[in-house]
Amino acid sequence: MREIVTLQCTECKERNYATTKNKKTTTKRLEFSKFCNRCRKHQPHKETK
Ligand SMILES: [Zn+2]
Repeated sequence: MREIVTLQCTECKERNYATTKNKKTTTKRLEFSKFCNRCRKHQPHKETK
């Protein structure tokens, strides 16, 4: 069972990416370094609901 999660820029709170995760194996909040269009640079993006 994989769930769709949204990744949100920690700087400007823009929701830039969506991904899926396995809820059973991934219990922690996901965090990725991704390019943010609003910040125009790489920022840590965190999982949001
Ligand atoms: Zn941003």
